[in-house]
Amino acid sequence: MSTARKSKYGLPTTLPTTVVEPDQNQEVFDDNAQSPADPRIRCPHCDWSPKPESRWQCVCKHHWNTFDTGGICPSCMFQWTTTQCLSCLVFSAHSAWYTHPAE
Ligand SMILES: [Zn+2]
Ligand SMILES: [Zn+2]
Repeated sequence: MSTARKSKYGLPTTLPTTVVEPDQNQEVFDDNAQSPADPRIRCPHCDWSPKPESRWQCVCKHHWNTFDTGGICPSCMFQWTTTQCLSCLVFSAHSAWYTHPAE
């Protein structure tokens, strides 16, 4: 007489554990460079946002992204208090380019 009985429900003895991928929050807009560098930085006149590859020229002829350094030329350490828009060419106070999200 066979007493082998199949489990009616066949529940697994070990439930699969939820694997939390460490990179699940990885943002995936890397394959095209369409996204602006930082939406909080924009021209106060025309709303143009500088891109990571945007470059400004210092009086010392150095080219760099002025928003990477807060308006300071990394070559001669000159502090630029105004920044010219590369789109509308209007000079604005460097601090005026930064918007502050609602707090
Ligand atoms: Zn300079
Ligand atoms: Zn502008």
